[in-house]
Amino acid sequence: MFVLAHRDPSTAHLLSLRDSKCFAQDDKSFLTSCANLPAMAEGISSLSTSKKHFLSDKVSQFTESVIRDMTRQAMLYGAVNLAQGFPDFAAPAEIKQAARAAIDGDVNQYAITWGAKNLRNAIARQMGLWQEMAVDPEKEITVCCGSTEAMISTLLAVCNAGDEVVIFEPFYENYGPDSVLSGARPRFVKLRPPVSEGGEWTFDEKELRAAFDKHTKAIILNTPNNPTGKVFTRAELELIRDLCIEFDVLAITDEIYEHILYDGTEHISMASLEGMQDRTVTINGMSKTYSVTGWRVGWAVGPEKITNAIRKVHDFLTVGAPAPLQEAGAAALSLPAEYYAKLAERYRVRRDHLMPALEAAGFRCFRPRGAYYVMTDISAFGFANDVEFTKYLVKDVGVAAVPGSSFYRDARDGARQVRFAFCKKLETLDAAAEKLEKLRARK
Ligand code: PLP
Repeated sequence: MFVLAHRDPSTAHLLSLRDSKCFAQDDKSFLTSCANLPAMAEGISSLSTSKKHFLSDKVSQFTESVIRDMTRQAMLYGAVNLAQGFPDFAAPAEIKQAARAAIDGDVNQYAITWGAKNLRNAIARQMGLWQEMAVDPEKEITVCCGSTEAMISTLLAVCNAGDEVVIFEPFYENYGPDSVLSGARPRFVKLRPPVSEGGEWTFDEKELRAAFDKHTKAIILNTPNNPTGKVFTRAELELIRDLCIEFDVLAITDEIYEHILYDGTEHISMASLEGMQDRTVTINGMSKTYSVTGWRVGWAVGPEKITNAIRKVHDFLTVGAPAPLQEAGAAALSLPAEYYAKLAERYRVRRDHLMPALEAAGFRCFRPRGAYYVMTDISAFGFANDVEFTKYLVKDVGVAAVPGSSFYRDARDGARQVRFAFCKKLETLDAAAEKLEKLRARK
């Protein structure tokens, strides 16, 4: 994930991804996408025509997204894309109709900067329904360009230089650069893979406690989790809650997979726990729940004072999310309860379709309880590391996946892991399964 960290020993590890991302360097076809990396990676301080240091120090600390790069690799090699988490099937007809109606109705101009009233009302109503939380749509919600912008706007709104942000790893790759851009220092705490068949990813309570101190401003919590599929239990959330209260820390929760749950797991919003609504910013969006990752509508919900700060950052970053699509968002949030049950069931079918194919090909799968990814162990294939393996997989087997190292600060921690996304048509998963059969011969 990260390329360069020099001054600070606690972030020296951020260097790790240089090796993985630049697996491309010995390979012409990969070079194009990595063309800008060597300069970034080495922190070269001048452009060819100038002696001035034109680039920000912050930018030199991370690369482009590996996940989104893998999509470009999939296109380059004509591989089946199980790398990036976007559905390849249609969005619900009702919400497309609502978007068309908004455009036909000339909803063409800026919405209120912190979000169209209809959408904010719908978000508040649904948070009441799903998590029994009372949210004031006038004072506590900011609609952003996706949950991606909601996260960076929140971090920019709350972090000062020297603050620390606790992040569980493996982590969704945006959180590291988001912390760096906001001036905060990430402190990572390990989620450990299940040791037995069907087990859960766990964390060590002592390790988590040790990451909290007087510099800790916030913990970023993603549940259901990308990439592990972990759904944090009430007991785990209460433990985190108690640390947040003891150390006076904010929780910033990414709940974008809220409705994608399996095996009877329950999604619990951190803000719904006693004592947390005042110190939690809940981030969510339309991308995953309504299969519209390209619409770029997400939101941050938090206490008034923090919301005011988020709204200021958001206003100057993007002014607002697409107005007609916010109206469609209000319609989406009005879909009946059956919609969400069907969504989860459809993804369960896809999970249970892909996992046997991966296992037959030689992967050890860590069974996800939520979200739409499966993390796997690739030890059986005898490759040097995850990057070598994903390179072979996309070029020679014809399936794109994400190297595990992109979810860790230290590439070595992810060297035996690879992530597959199953938010795809069954035909797409079948096409991948057929290609993966090539791997069996190599086992
Ligand atoms: N958060 C997590 C955990 C994700 O996995 C993703 C996309 O894969 C996002 C946020 C991006 O969400 P959005 O499309 O709302 O920006």
